[in-house]
Amino acid sequence: MRLLELKERIQQHIDQISEYTATPGKGTTRLTYSQEDLKTRNYIKAKMKEYGLQVREDGFGNIFGKLEGTIKDAPSVMVGSHFDSVPHGGSYDGPAGVVAALEVAALFAKNKMRPKYPLEIVALVEEEGARFGGGLMGSRGMVGLLGEEEFKSLRDHNGVSTIEAMSGIGLDPSLPKKRDSKTMKAFLELHIEQGPILEEKDIPIGVVEAIVGLTQLEVTVKGQAGHAGTTPMDRRSDALVASASIIAQLPALAEEEEQGTVITTGRLNVYPNGANVIPDQVVFSVDIRSGKEEHVLNVIEKTKNLVHSFNGSGIDITIEQLLYIQPKELNPGIRSLLKEKSEELQIPYCSIHSGAGHDAMVLSDYTDVGMLFIPSKNGLSHCPEEWSDSEDIARAAEIFYETAKNLTEAEK
Ligand SMILES: [Zn+2]
Repeated sequence: MRLLELKERIQQHIDQISEYTATPGKGTTRLTYSQEDLKTRNYIKAKMKEYGLQVREDGFGNIFGKLEGTIKDAPSVMVGSHFDSVPHGGSYDGPAGVVAALEVAALFAKNKMRPKYPLEIVALVEEEGARFGGGLMGSRGMVGLLGEEEFKSLRDHNGVSTIEAMSGIGLDPSLPKKRDSKTMKAFLELHIEQGPILEEKDIPIGVVEAIVGLTQLEVTVKGQAGHAGTTPMDRRSDALVASASIIAQLPALAEEEEQGTVITTGRLNVYPNGANVIPDQVVFSVDIRSGKEEHVLNVIEKTKNLVHSFNGSGIDITIEQLLYIQPKELNPGIRSLLKEKSEELQIPYCSIHSGAGHDAMVLSDYTDVGMLFIPSKNGLSHCPEEWSDSEDIARAAEIFYETAKNLTEAEK
């Protein structure tokens, strides 16, 4: 039976790619342009070649494997996802979508399908932003939202630039970066749900209707350093004490807004970070998400007001908006096509909203985008326990294969 064979092939890809981690036994840590990136990249490129695709990389290190169409210079139907991870993440966030896409190409090859429009399998870098911050770097770069100068200026926690890191694994940053939207006909992405809904409903496929908006702020609190023993309490401008008071008040701002609005501080850097020194600087992140733009905007405004109320008495606070992405509705035509193909294949599905940002969301301003979710065990992701059933990935690959045949106008 085809589904079980597909499941096994997919499980092999997932098992192999999960070996490429900087933290064996402690989850997947695959930072962009690391040795683990290189090993995964080589695996993906080898599979692309094996399935008859022409492989190229762009100036960000995004990977494209193309099956030419019979119409000259026609735009591509792209299928893919990202292959980086957060530190100590799981084996499925990103790679599930990449391996489903690889298997779509394998099915085209196996069934000798000849598309009119090219089929392109896409594996994107730095979606998580775990190394260079911000996130969605590969997709934003590919459509021209991340300029050459801005890209070059990005550095990781150790001060290593994007260009240096790319060169370190033999990538060429001088290759073309921006891709004209005229070269893209559609983009299909499979991703794990990263939430509990599909598992609770016991439905293997979610057709994503819209993706929630996403904002990342970076707050820098400057105070005054001093000796922990000799500076009296009333003479202190402690950047960490101010930051802690602010962070403790953030959850209430999202709770007031309701409608599933959420706010998170997940990163906090303290300087100089010594046990006997009063902190003179703290930098922390604020992540705000909601399905409706007005809620995102309200919470940003309230966060700014709260933060600025702490200015004075030796404390100086600035806020920078690192990322702002509006809530996005995905393409209605492709959504219908995905549902139609699920029905034909007798695969149960339901409509769902995405609470996380994805490359699909960035690309939806430039091409027609469709997205599928599969259940995440216990709703968990970004941790070693992250798990999805390869049989569900296989179901999604079958739906994408049928959808891609339709969109590329493929014939035997
Ligand atoms: Zn992801």
